[in-house]
Amino acid sequence: MQTFPMFLKMSGRRVIVFGGEEEAAQKTRLMLKTEAEIVVVAESLCPELAELARAGRVIHHAPAITADGISGAVLAFCASGCPGADAAHAALAREARVLVNAVDQPDLCDAFTPAIVDRDPVVVAIGTEGTAPVLARRIKSKLETELEPNLGRFAASLGRMRGMVAHRVQKDARRAFWAWVWDVLRPLHASGAEDEALNRMTEAALAGRAPDAARAGSVSLVGAGPGGVDLITLRGLRRLQEADVILHDALSDPEILELARRDAERIDVGKICGDTKRPSAWQQDRIARLMVQHASEGKHVVRLKCGDPGLFGRAREEMDACDAAGIPVEIVPGITAAFAASAEFNAVLTERHEIDAITLASARKATGAACTSAAPTLRPGGAIAYYMGVREAAAIEAGLLQTCPADLPCQIVSRAGYADARSVTTTLSDLSGTIERDGIKSPAILFVKWPTSHGVAAATAPVARVLHA
Ligand code: SAH
Repeated sequence: MQTFPMFLKMSGRRVIVFGGEEEAAQKTRLMLKTEAEIVVVAESLCPELAELARAGRVIHHAPAITADGISGAVLAFCASGCPGADAAHAALAREARVLVNAVDQPDLCDAFTPAIVDRDPVVVAIGTEGTAPVLARRIKSKLETELEPNLGRFAASLGRMRGMVAHRVQKDARRAFWAWVWDVLRPLHASGAEDEALNRMTEAALAGRAPDAARAGSVSLVGAGPGGVDLITLRGLRRLQEADVILHDALSDPEILELARRDAERIDVGKICGDTKRPSAWQQDRIARLMVQHASEGKHVVRLKCGDPGLFGRAREEMDACDAAGIPVEIVPGITAAFAASAEFNAVLTERHEIDAITLASARKATGAACTSAAPTLRPGGAIAYYMGVREAAAIEAGLLQTCPADLPCQIVSRAGYADARSVTTTLSDLSGTIERDGIKSPAILFVKWPTSHGVAAATAPVARVLHA
């Protein structure tokens, strides 16, 4: 940034406008929005400026002015319409240590006037450091349509009520109160029902909290991605920042929690996906009960799950618990481990003419036993991404070898998304051997691919071997 945006208090400060014609009138109009004292330095004034001088809204000064005469001003607009005169005025202003804005001469400017969206006291200033005024105007038009015309009055009313709200509404209820004000009362105010919106706000502040309907809690099952803090979606990030309570898995990247509000309660439900034998593992029903309990207290609960919540994440049980308690629940999708694992090493999941279908399969049943049910579905042109497969690799391998060629290409990707992500390639008949020899640990995805060009013929050998063994 070569310039720094800042909102200056203008009350009691002096601004000099050099020039008496249209350019000067434009800058004067801008300054008239503020409480600055405006001195227009010119030989003669256009009718608009002359009228303002007569009304005492600007001071007219003859062109013969010295640096002393302008020192103490905060800003000088050089807007005479003549580049040479503007340059001379700029030099004079600089001698008096006054910041300069010269019309259409960015090189002479210390300060640029932004495009302004004015909803006083809400003011949006858009600057491009003089490079692209058209872009600034485009952004301004967009914001003009987004910010309702009476937003400023709403903000001013909030400002007046802030003290009363701080006094009446307990600290832990205040966030919900302001959320209700923005989500419910702002649209009401914007629709024109200003008095009603403000009356409701006063009533709620006196009652010490937002009305009950707005206090209903909710649960969001948020996919955190497989690891790597930047693999969460923008929607997931927003939910995380709105959350009062976060229940997180052992598998989600701890850095993601840094993105949440500082005062959000974080609960490590310490449950490595699928590992119910882990002593500290929280039982699923306990997690569900905890979620419901917090949401019933009117809190926004985020259940942060690794990868995508809808894949091997026991989301169904958690959603059923919410449904049974009448708590609104949603899924915010995440990047599943197979997608991240594939992208991590620039592999692709499907490939024209080679792989046209991919199965996402769990290598383990709910009972903890190996699950090989996906094996018979693997055909030429297909691939399987196995989750939770590290310990079950031997069973997967044996299952697939019954119908697939022994030399099918396999890729094992562990800790996708993290700095120590690792990829090893091998063949089907050496899948479990590779995992053992290379010491590959969970979490990892096991990809088994049967490209079309690999051919079917090769499959007959191992099939025959298995069948005749
Ligand atoms: N809901 C998750 C899957 C949970 S099951 C998702 O959509 O990704 C847990 C399994 O996911 C692990 O056993 C492993 O197979 C896989 N997994 C999770 N994180 C991973 C990572 N960073 N790298 C590779 N595999 C991962």
